[in-house]
Amino acid sequence: MGRLEGKAALITGAASGIGQATAQLMAKEGATVYLSDIREIEGEKAAQDIASEDGNANFLPLDVTQETAWEKAVEAIMEDTGHLDILVNNAGIPGAGVRIEDMELETWRHCTTICLDGVFLGVKHGIRAMRKGDGGSIINISSIAGKIGIPTSGNYCAAKGGVKLLTKTAALECANKEPRVRINSIHPGFIDTDLLAGAIQHRGPWFREFIEYNVPMAELGTARDIAEGIVYLASDAAKFVTGSELVIDGGYLAR
Ligand code: NAP
Repeated sequence: MGRLEGKAALITGAASGIGQATAQLMAKEGATVYLSDIREIEGEKAAQDIASEDGNANFLPLDVTQETAWEKAVEAIMEDTGHLDILVNNAGIPGAGVRIEDMELETWRHCTTICLDGVFLGVKHGIRAMRKGDGGSIINISSIAGKIGIPTSGNYCAAKGGVKLLTKTAALECANKEPRVRINSIHPGFIDTDLLAGAIQHRGPWFREFIEYNVPMAELGTARDIAEGIVYLASDAAKFVTGSELVIDGGYLAR
């Protein structure tokens, strides 16, 4: 028996990186997985790859900033399986690479709309859907940048810090209500994905050197490292865990 046998899971931003690795691992653990993303071609392909290895995977287009798109996606899953048990609010974009005094309001809003408003909409519609079944687990992907400030990432840090406290508030609102919905945040460190590659390219080679020098384990994490934490929080092994922060960062925040 897999750890997620019989569960239905929706993962945002699942066409690549952490979301894709999570979809792969959840399918291996027996879940019916709904990958979603704004990248439809890559998302379809990621779902087909899982299905070709006997996983139960489907793709749903979903821009997390659009409330009607959330309603449609959740409705499609409820029609298909009758329940939603796991939601991973993973879709995100990197910070601006610009100091606050030079940042345009549009740049600020672009990041906070996807990384914070998108999570709010997911939590809202996820709770509503899970209450129609046996409850469930929502995992919000924050960041180490949700716990500390990082120069030139003001929009990203603000959004990810917002995700941390949105998570705790939602967890408290749901903790003592049946059916129970658990809500936790994960705080990845520097993980080897397209998002980080883009941030290094934008900021310059000093950023990679900074990472390698400052991460105690002296390497980048993998998307699978984060997927393992997500699957734990999604599973019944975490049945007493809600409102918590799981840091997976090679020791970065321990300094
Ligand atoms: P990734 O490989 O770029 O995957 C993120 C996916 O989300 C991409 O396919 C992206 O499409 C998609 N996306 C962007 N805007 C969206 C929207 N409005 N609606 C739906 N999907 C959207 O990045 P990743 O590194 O796996 O990041 C996943 C999450 O982990 C993010 O929330 C990120 O902030 C967080 N995180 C990552 C790291 C790291 O070092 N990689 C560290 C801490 C936290 P586009 O490519 O078109 O934008």
